[in-house]
Amino acid sequence: MFVVKCDSCGFVLYRGPDPKTVEAVLKMWGGVCPKCLSPLERRPIKIGIGLVKKVS
Ligand SMILES: [Zn+2]
Repeated sequence: MFVVKCDSCGFVLYRGPDPKTVEAVLKMWGGVCPKCLSPLERRPIKIGIGLVKKVS
C-alpha cells in the first residue's frame, strides 16, 4: 500500500497498492491540494505503508 500526502496539510492525495509517480498524482487533483488549496509544486510526501506493516 502506497500513500501520497500533501506536504502542507497531510491530506491523502493517493492511496493504493501501486506506486504512482508524483506527476500522476498531481494531475489527478489538477495540481492543487483539494483540502488546503495550496499548489502542489513542492513534492508531496510519499509513504510506503507496506514496508511499515512488515516491520510491525
Ligand atoms: Zn494540502
